[in-house]
Amino acid sequence: MKFSGLRVLKEGLTGNRGWTPHWRDPEPKAEYDAVIIGGGGHGLATAYYLASNHGMTNIAVLEKGYIGSGNIGRNTTIVRANYFLPGNSEFYSHSLKLWEGLEQDLNYNVMHSRRGLINLFHSDGQRDAFVRRGNAMLNQGDDAVLLDREGVRKYLPYLDFDNLRFPVYGGLLHPRGGSARHDAVAWGYARGADQRGVDLVQNCEVTGIDIERGVVKGVQTTRGAIRARKVAIVTAGRSGQVAAMAGMRLPIESHVLQAFVTEGLKPVIDHVVSFGMGHFYISQSDKGGLVFGGDLDFYASYAQRGNLPMAEHVMEAGMTLMPMIGKAKVLRSWGGIMDMTPDGSPIIDRTDTEGLFIDCGWCYGGFKAVPASGVALAHLMATGQSHEIAAGFRLDRFRTGRGIIDEEGTGSQHNLH
Ligand SMILES: Cc1cc2nc3c(=O)[nH]c(=O)nc-3n(C[C@H](O)[C@H](O)[C@H](O)COP(=O)(O)OP(=O)(O)OC[C@H]3O[C@@H](n4cnc5c(N)ncnc54)[C@H](O)[C@@H]3O)c2cc1C
Repeated sequence: MKFSGLRVLKEGLTGNRGWTPHWRDPEPKAEYDAVIIGGGGHGLATAYYLASNHGMTNIAVLEKGYIGSGNIGRNTTIVRANYFLPGNSEFYSHSLKLWEGLEQDLNYNVMHSRRGLINLFHSDGQRDAFVRRGNAMLNQGDDAVLLDREGVRKYLPYLDFDNLRFPVYGGLLHPRGGSARHDAVAWGYARGADQRGVDLVQNCEVTGIDIERGVVKGVQTTRGAIRARKVAIVTAGRSGQVAAMAGMRLPIESHVLQAFVTEGLKPVIDHVVSFGMGHFYISQSDKGGLVFGGDLDFYASYAQRGNLPMAEHVMEAGMTLMPMIGKAKVLRSWGGIMDMTPDGSPIIDRTDTEGLFIDCGWCYGGFKAVPASGVALAHLMATGQSHEIAAGFRLDRFRTGRGIIDEEGTGSQHNLH
C-alpha cells in the first residue's frame, strides 16, 4: 500500500475501507540470518537499512512489548545537529540529512518540521560557549546563527527578557533543527522493514542469549528459541539487563527522564526553545499541546514514570523563562528509561562475542540519531566494518580511556550529561 495525496482523497470519498495494516503479525521462525533485540527507533531503523541498503531480508526484530512502547514513543521529538565534538558532530550532521529525505524514503509522513531550534544564553561566558559551538556547526556544514537579545525578541517575544536571575542575553539559532512525530517514525520504519520482508515479532521478550565457544548462536525468547548468526542488542534503557544475558557488564546507568504535555492551544510557540540556565526545553505539537521537559530524575531506575520533585523543578524553569505558560493546563506526563554512558555519547560496536553487536548509550538524545544509527549499525552488521560516521562510538573507550567524547565536559558522571 502506497501513500499519496490522491490515495488519501480516494479513501476519504469511499469510506476509508481500502487501508491495510502497516505490517504483518508473523510467527517467529526457528532461524534467521540476523536477529535484532528491541523494536524501538534504533532497532527498526537497523532492520530497515539492513534490508534496503544491504539486501539482508531474512531478519527479525524481537520486541517484548508493542512497536513504539519504549522511548521512541515517549520522547519530546527534537531533531537537531548542533553537536560540538568530532565523533558526535559528523554523526548527527549525517543523521539530520537523512531526516530531510526520510519521508520520501519511507513513503510515510513522519511530520518532520524544520521549525528552528533556539538555544538561549544568559551570561557572557555562555555566549562564548555558544559562539564556539556555532562555529563548530558551521565547520561541519550545518547551520547556526548567533542572535543578540533583540534578535531573540523578534522570534520569541513572550520570554521574560529581564528576569532578575536569568536575563536573556541572546541565543544560537539552528534553523534546520526542529521536530518530528515520534511514533510515526517508529511506524514508518516498521512498515518499510516489513515491506522488505523483515519479521517484526511483538510480545516476544528475549530471555537469554545463546553463546558457544565465544560465538553467538541465537536467543531464547518467551516465544521459543530462535537461531541466528548475528544478534544485535538495541534495547536502550534495558541494555544493561540484556547485555548481562551475554555475560557483559556495560558502562551504562539507566535513569528516568520525564516529559509533559499541556492541553491543546492555538499556535503560540513556533520554534523549539531551550533555556540555557536550567534544564528546560519546549515546543508546540501540531495538535497544539505544549510539549516540554527538563532534567533526569537523578537516580537510577527502570520505572517508566517519574517523581514530583522533578516535575516541580521543570514547571519552575518554565515559569522563569516564559511566565505566560502558567495559564496552560498540563494534561499528561510520562517517563522513559535513559541509557546513560559515562561520557554522554553512544556506543555502536561489535562485542567480544563473535556475531554479537550492541547499539546503546543514547542518553536523552537518541531520537534524532535514529536514521544514522540505523545506517551505521546495519553497515557494521552487514560488512563487519564500522561506518565512518560512527567510528568513534567504540565500546572499549570506557575501558582504555582513549577516544572519550565528553560533549558536556562533566566528566565520568552518568546523570550529568
Ligand atoms: C521524556 C524523553 C524525552 C526525550 N527527548 C528527546 C528529544 O527531544 N530528542 C532526542 O533526540 N531524543 C530524546 N529522547 C531520547 C530518545 O527517545 C531515546 O534515546 C531513543 O528513543 C532510544 O532508542 P530507541 O528508540 O531504540 O529506544 P526504545 O524505543 O526504548 O527501544 C528499545 C526497545 O527494546 C525493547 N526491549 C527491552 N528489553 C527487551 C527484551 N529483553 N526483549 C525484547 N525487547 C526488549 C523495549 O521494549 C523497547 O521497545 C527522549 C527520551 C525521553 C524518555
